[in-house]
Amino acid sequence: MTTPPAPPLGLPHLAGCPDCGLFQRLPGALPPRAAASCLRCDAVLRRQRRDPFGAPLALILAALLLALVALSLPLLAIDIRGRGEATTLATLPLAFDRYRFWELSALTAATVVLLPVLRLLLLLAVLLGLRLPAPPRRLYLAYRWQAALRPWAMTEVFLLGVFVAYTRLVALAEVEVGPALWALGAVMLAMCAADAAQDGHAVWQALERRGCTAARRPLAGPQLIACTGCGLVSRAAEGARCPRCATRLHRRRPGSVGQAWALVAAAAILYLPANAYPVMTVTYLGRGAPHTILGGAEDLVSAGLWPLALLVFVASIAVPVLKLAGLGLLLVASRRGARGRLRDLMRLYRIVEAVGRWSMIDVFMLATLVALVQAGVLATVTPGLGALAFAAVVVLTMLAAERLDPRLVWDAAERRGGAA
Ligand SMILES: [Zn+2]
Ligand SMILES: [Zn+2]
Repeated sequence: MTTPPAPPLGLPHLAGCPDCGLFQRLPGALPPRAAASCLRCDAVLRRQRRDPFGAPLALILAALLLALVALSLPLLAIDIRGRGEATTLATLPLAFDRYRFWELSALTAATVVLLPVLRLLLLLAVLLGLRLPAPPRRLYLAYRWQAALRPWAMTEVFLLGVFVAYTRLVALAEVEVGPALWALGAVMLAMCAADAAQDGHAVWQALERRGCTAARRPLAGPQLIACTGCGLVSRAAEGARCPRCATRLHRRRPGSVGQAWALVAAAAILYLPANAYPVMTVTYLGRGAPHTILGGAEDLVSAGLWPLALLVFVASIAVPVLKLAGLGLLLVASRRGARGRLRDLMRLYRIVEAVGRWSMIDVFMLATLVALVQAGVLATVTPGLGALAFAAVVVLTMLAAERLDPRLVWDAAERRGGAA
């Protein structure tokens, strides 16, 4: 190439901590497998991977091929006294729709099938695109979108939900594990390995080097702002667009406290019907009994399945309460400031962010039961209103954690003069 090297779009030696907002100078290159953490709050700012392009590409290709297998072959089949029923991954989410819970159908289809596949395709586009002699300029959008989709692609949570459903089904039927379930397990492993081998910083630098960016020139503005989409630090004006990934740049997320409070309040209100109404009704040999979330955990205890009862209790009851309380605490701290203990608050924030999606286990377990045990003479599982409310609680708390800006906690502490 004869074109002269372009000037960097931002300040590449600086990193803005996404959790506490502190700007820090980073060494130009870290040794392979090394990580740089924030001096103030311990957040990981950058992690160097050994092979950030080749290994993830191979794993993503493998995951996509396995996903094709998982989507086309039978997932689970049951046999209750000679009457059989089978489901595939593609038809499983539709089961809710038969009982007019199309919202649950849409949520399951999106989080288990559509978004994981879409995310894999976007990653594939970026990693393959970067190998082209002239990569398409808008490749930066694909990489930004895949990052946004990451918490909503729930393959591993779904697998755990299927596992819980399986242990319940073996009590009343002969269950046959189909090849798609093994394939889906392999998809999950390949996706996790691909995420572990990925290096967002290296990919963004490569996109910038190859000219796949929103703008060609760095911004000139009055203050340092770190992009929440790609991490680039720019001297920019509030509300300008990141020159690398076109995300709007704000020193702090505008309106985040009010929006997060509204989402937390809505989730807290819906938590009541989620626990009071049955999540499902199990009819067996003509007799039906509604089950609430707590009742489901109790059933597992009485069946002697202690570890599973604990899992369901933690995922469906403890985690939502912990999330609501944790989000409330962080929101109060971001307005009024906290004295000391800020590192602990950041630990809480990271836990709340990481565990939220695991509450979907119950919804996915129910999806599997409803898909397999349907309209039979012997047994039927019908979803209940509690399931809809519960799924809404999970989604709303996940959205609240995304809206919340943890840097405000540090700002408020600084105003109080208590930043540790
Ligand atoms: Zn920090
Ligand atoms: Zn950006």
